[in-house]
Amino acid sequence: MTIPTITNPSFNETFYASLQTPPTGERVRTCLQCGMCSGVCPFGYVMDFPPGRMIAALRSEIFDRVMKSDTVWMCVACYACTEVCPSGIPLTEKLMARAKEELILSGAVPAELQLALENSQRYGNVLGQSPRKRADWTKGIQATVPVFGKEKKSAEVLWYVGDYASYHPRVQTTSRAFAQVLNALGVDFAILGSDESGDGDSQRLAGERGLFEVLAAKNAQAFRKYKFGEIITTDPHAFNAIKNVYPTLGISFPVRHYTQFLAERLEQLKPLLKQPVNGKITFHDPCYLGRANNIYDEPRALLQAIPGAELVEMSHSGKTSLCCGGGGGGMWLEGFQWEKAHTRTSEWRVREAIASGATTLAVACPYEPPRFEDAVKTVREASGMEVRDVIELLVESMEQ
Ligand code: SF4
Ligand code: SF4
Repeated sequence: MTIPTITNPSFNETFYASLQTPPTGERVRTCLQCGMCSGVCPFGYVMDFPPGRMIAALRSEIFDRVMKSDTVWMCVACYACTEVCPSGIPLTEKLMARAKEELILSGAVPAELQLALENSQRYGNVLGQSPRKRADWTKGIQATVPVFGKEKKSAEVLWYVGDYASYHPRVQTTSRAFAQVLNALGVDFAILGSDESGDGDSQRLAGERGLFEVLAAKNAQAFRKYKFGEIITTDPHAFNAIKNVYPTLGISFPVRHYTQFLAERLEQLKPLLKQPVNGKITFHDPCYLGRANNIYDEPRALLQAIPGAELVEMSHSGKTSLCCGGGGGGMWLEGFQWEKAHTRTSEWRVREAIASGATTLAVACPYEPPRFEDAVKTVREASGMEVRDVIELLVESMEQ
């Protein structure tokens, strides 16, 4: 796969200058060159310039070599480097995202990522689907899913559904399950339907800050049309964007991930969990729930409430969780990353799940069911391993 060469000769200087400016520039100067970031990076071993070496290149003013290498696109924005950095340098959000931004500005973008970004720009969703069909997943299901502007003008909860949960056939199953849980708990909620746009967070961390801001503005316009108490999202990427980044654009709304929302209602939920779901379950901490937002206990509390379920941990869990490979544009760089690494982190993760003794790999992010189910097909020892969202396991236990 070829990537266009960089045509803007001045961008190296611009980029270098931007990382010299406080506060990020000041932090970059505190790098100890300990190499922990590069060591913990899932693809550090195939990068010509993993984060620590990028900083070394910045200091020695040879950053143009980093920009000529295409391995920045191996970064899946998993926050593992940021988590371990003893100097607290915001590597994922600043260094890696800024480097990708410069490459995008220069046109040096892998074609598959370019297509995903164009889809987001043209259709408001990365899958290139019609915005009018955003709520089609609700058709013909038993659960009631009111849409703002049609059935309701106000509700206690605005459920921000997201691109994959709206359009991807595998993830729509999870959306239907969440609708069932909300109905069973008697929650007053509504979705935005065609008023909703992609949250843009993965596009931002893939270097498309401008597109992120456009999508955020569209969502803000939709949020402001209706009255609601809080936003609940099934997508940790959307949760991260609305909680941490939208406010920097003046878009502030209370938001929670569904695992927080349901864990708070555990006493109401428990009597509904009647059917045992026997077997060992292991939970994959999504990067944008765990490392990015410190939410580790709530999904586990939900799984532990399921009768018959035995929770076991993988060798990497909690803060050390191994990325599924989908973040920061990784969802749309499959071909490029396969050519470089000839392996997928989702396959490593499935092997860890097998080693933990689990028969079910539980997830809480819409990127994960398709990624891990593909990995189950390619990892020989994984036959029989089930990949289920936490919501799907709750519904299984609720069913008569
Ligand atoms: S972990 Fe932090 S201090 Fe260590 S090399 Fe990486 S950026 Fe520098
Ligand atoms: S965010 Fe993750 S993938 Fe990107 S450089 Fe850091 S450790 Fe590597």
